[in-house]
Amino acid sequence: MLGIQNHRLTGPDVSFRPTPNVGGAMRPQFVVLHYTAGRTLESSVESLCTKKPQGNASSHIVLGRDGRIVQLAPFNAVTWHAGVSQWNGIDGLNHHAIGIEMDNAGLLHREGERCVSWFGKAYPDNEVVVAEHRHGGGVRPWHNFTEVQIERALQLCEVLVAHYGLKDVLGHEDIARGRKVDPGPAFPLAAVRSRALGRGGDAAVRLVVTSTTLNIRSGPSADFPKVAPALKRGAELVLLEPQDRWSRVAVVGVTDLEGWVCNDFVARQAATRSGAGVLSRSQRAVPVATRARAPASAPAKKRAAPAKKSNTTTRARR
Ligand SMILES: [Zn+2]
Repeated sequence: MLGIQNHRLTGPDVSFRPTPNVGGAMRPQFVVLHYTAGRTLESSVESLCTKKPQGNASSHIVLGRDGRIVQLAPFNAVTWHAGVSQWNGIDGLNHHAIGIEMDNAGLLHREGERCVSWFGKAYPDNEVVVAEHRHGGGVRPWHNFTEVQIERALQLCEVLVAHYGLKDVLGHEDIARGRKVDPGPAFPLAAVRSRALGRGGDAAVRLVVTSTTLNIRSGPSADFPKVAPALKRGAELVLLEPQDRWSRVAVVGVTDLEGWVCNDFVARQAATRSGAGVLSRSQRAVPVATRARAPASAPAKKRAAPAKKSNTTTRARR
């Protein structure tokens, strides 16, 4: 299981190799996913750790096709993966986003019967996804991502979203539209995004407000300010990050309203199945919430306590 300590990733098959291509301090708000368009994990790490006269590139993470992870910079330092970019009125995402590069040859082209990368390597049919990019360009061949790579990308996004309270999970193609096409149609970005953010995925846990009214706050205690008018009994929530007494939630039907509520005044609903179908079978087999937050494997001080089921109190709200 992946964790974060002092802005460094911890867990199995994780290593750290510092890149000289870093900027100043950063408080991350987003994660941006890329493909390397490279040959191997090692060659991409080497390239992203090299200073180049034509311009330096780097990222925080390089993710191999076998699931190995190499971290190149702490998550609170700027790296150079996004280039000219915009998202929701923010310019220059390098200063706001954690970059994850995934080892993948990228967009391929046909040479007779073969699908070949820009660096001349041919890929067998079972490593090629033929699809049109959601931004158009016609049906073209793309190098596939392996299942273990997609699974690790999802785990990475989950741990980063939970640790830093990230606002969104994006592709380079989202923030540099018309200029970049990565990670492209071979990567299930929408499914990874919704599951990492805990919104609408097939493993999303829904809660319902059981008290007459319930305050939603900016942090996990009654000391934090309210972020919106009190929620009413019956309001539906999506569980984003459970803690012992409080949970971070998104309010269903209200765009971008997220905050913390006290677990005493919410109850779990049956899981919804609305967002099923994009991840491969093996990824759907184990619900994200169970895998990432099972009490058995969670650290004791941050154990995921399920919301209480029987509490229908109208006591004073938190
Ligand atoms: Zn990119």
